[in-house]
Amino acid sequence: MIEKYIPYIGEEFIDELFLISRKLKGIKVLHVNSTKEGGGVAEILNRLVPLMNELGIETDWQIIKGDRTFFNFTKKLHNLLHMPGKEEINSDEIVYYLKITYENMNQIDTENYDVIFIHDPQPMGLVIKKQPGQKWIWRCHIDTSTPDPKAWHFLENFLNAYDACIFHMPEFAYEGITIPTYIIAPSIDPLHPKHIELSQEEIINTLTRFGINPEKPIILQVSRFDRLKDPFGVLKAYKLVKKKYDCQVVLVGAFAPDDPEGEQVYKELLNFATGDKDIFILNLPPNSHKEINAFQRGATVVVQKSLKEGFGLVVSEAMWKAKPVIGSNVGGIKRQIVHGITGYLVNSIEGTAVRIRYLLANPEIRKTMGFHAKERVRHRFLIIRHLRDYLLLINRLLKNND
Ligand code: UDP
Repeated sequence: MIEKYIPYIGEEFIDELFLISRKLKGIKVLHVNSTKEGGGVAEILNRLVPLMNELGIETDWQIIKGDRTFFNFTKKLHNLLHMPGKEEINSDEIVYYLKITYENMNQIDTENYDVIFIHDPQPMGLVIKKQPGQKWIWRCHIDTSTPDPKAWHFLENFLNAYDACIFHMPEFAYEGITIPTYIIAPSIDPLHPKHIELSQEEIINTLTRFGINPEKPIILQVSRFDRLKDPFGVLKAYKLVKKKYDCQVVLVGAFAPDDPEGEQVYKELLNFATGDKDIFILNLPPNSHKEINAFQRGATVVVQKSLKEGFGLVVSEAMWKAKPVIGSNVGGIKRQIVHGITGYLVNSIEGTAVRIRYLLANPEIRKTMGFHAKERVRHRFLIIRHLRDYLLLINRLLKNND
């Protein structure tokens, strides 16, 4: 299967991958996170784990279990790591986090692995189980540059037991970190059903199945229903654009099982949309890959209006489909969009509306930007580059530097 990537990145890159993985023969790698589906982490692991196995590196993926109380707390922690907030972490929550962590320690076998990647804060406490000789890596998908001090202090207790941590961007790493820190950007997989080419007919059929008019301009945002993705901001920008252009707005989302807030946000969005038949709030089941692919390809302009963002993989997903993306000037969105070349970076609802209007009025510019957007993803945000970075890091940590 790995050879199938050659048309996208060239043969040399693949040879290099086999070369590195030969050095790692015999080791066992484990990835742990908190959900099998929903969100960017699961999305990447779904592809990365089979590819590592194909390269001859025995790799497993395990999921921690938790209940609503646990995930309410880890969601709060997630928000507090993004920025200091009004909420406080209380001692009951810490005790509960440890209780669930201990339960998971009994469920999740970490002993038989040489390298363990722990994704995000939810499973972070498992490091208590670390064995001599193992390398534990904390893979953080969040911007922790300005965390709430108490939330950070809580995590630090675990972090210091890790051998290394990885962030998407240098500015995401809190400056007080004392363990080795690496930067690896995430990626998309061009062979994933969400990214393969689709016929125009398939795209139109999907749009019409959801009642969307393929003839009328479409503004799209694909994101979990989460306030930090600012879906309300997108709808407000749409309302401003709508004064001048007849267009539709489509918010495609889902509830991740580890995000109890999603359902509430979804209901509020439905309320907001009442009475406007050009607003589509679509709550899709997990694995609606073909549909998301069709929406991204069928969109006229793609928006990612996040208030805070980890990486924002959806931006690269749309760029890969040669779409200009208008994204907030935050987090990983800044790394993906080249302002004025592949899309626009914006700072407000009004700014978003201005850029949408401009792009709706200029099809040639949409096309040129879309071309550059795709090339940028090809060079920087495809999965093979991601895989190579992981392998190089493992190699370095295990000191197989012969
Ligand atoms: N996604 C999805 N269905 C949805 C919303 C999002 O499959 O209804 C996918 C989206 O295509 C992307 C991932 O979930 O692959 C979201 O990753 P991103 O980094 O943009 O945001 P996160 O959810 O991790 O904050």
